[in-house]
Amino acid sequence: MFLIKRLLKPILVPIWNRSCFFIWRTGEIGEALMRGRIARCAICGRLSPLVYRPWLITPTLVERWGVSREAAAAIARKESTMCVWCGGKLRNRRIAETLLDLYPRGSPPRRARSIVEWVREPVIQSLQIAEINLIEGIHSYIKLLPHHYYSEYQDRIEDPAVRREDLTRLSYPSDSFDLVLTSETLEHVPDLGAALREILRVLKPGGKHIFTIPQDPAAARTFRRASLSADGSIEHHATPLYHPAGDHGYLVFTEFGADLVELLERAGFETELRFGPISNRDLAQVYVCGKPDRGQFDTTSADATTTAEKNLVDG
Ligand SMILES: [Zn+2]
Repeated sequence: MFLIKRLLKPILVPIWNRSCFFIWRTGEIGEALMRGRIARCAICGRLSPLVYRPWLITPTLVERWGVSREAAAAIARKESTMCVWCGGKLRNRRIAETLLDLYPRGSPPRRARSIVEWVREPVIQSLQIAEINLIEGIHSYIKLLPHHYYSEYQDRIEDPAVRREDLTRLSYPSDSFDLVLTSETLEHVPDLGAALREILRVLKPGGKHIFTIPQDPAAARTFRRASLSADGSIEHHATPLYHPAGDHGYLVFTEFGADLVELLERAGFETELRFGPISNRDLAQVYVCGKPDRGQFDTTSADATTTAEKNLVDG
């Protein structure tokens, strides 16, 4: 009996696990189909049921973050509503939509239907792109572009082949990139002013920083939850908040409020909010921050960044 158990267990356990996964996955897809949540994915271009996972935001997180149930559902939609083919979640599919809208292909310019089509175009292949922290779904396609630079923050990845970059001290030369892409990253940077200044520096005039971040529409002003002291210790100005990731989660340094567009413009960016307005019904907006033409930029940027930093500290 013992021998039979030892022989059968390695065979039966994987079969059982796969069956459970199949049933669970079928249920998710069936729910999406029944509710008519089907769309063409802007990343992979396939027609897909969009899988919604409300359980991603657990009751513990709702309590810890102090968000309403409506906001919790909106966060869960942002972090799921996934394409079953490429796994692209809502916030990343919206970044893809934004790229397709803002960077048409060919002559005369036409909007590509997906990132898969988009990366094949010569005009897109000429773009210098910095992807700072991996954007799930999109990454596997844009990494094929010849001028794509992918990096992770130093402690976030063990693979030595991956380039390390600190957003507050980028190693890239000034005026290097047509596009800087980040997704749910800026809130974890200890010195937001330095990060914005660095992004502005490495963008070419007319280049764009396209990103998503968590934002609380009920908070009138952006404020610091925590800051990094000169000795490397962390000073908390509010209850420490961590976003689920890695072993312990990532600390939130900045809580973004309703004044974010104003703050970004004061930092020197021409700012556009897409998929707005922000509300607790929809928290998956995409920001497009353009670096103005050199002449205009030079006259405003230094004072503007200082003001933005002061605003953060005062907030
Ligand atoms: Zn897809």
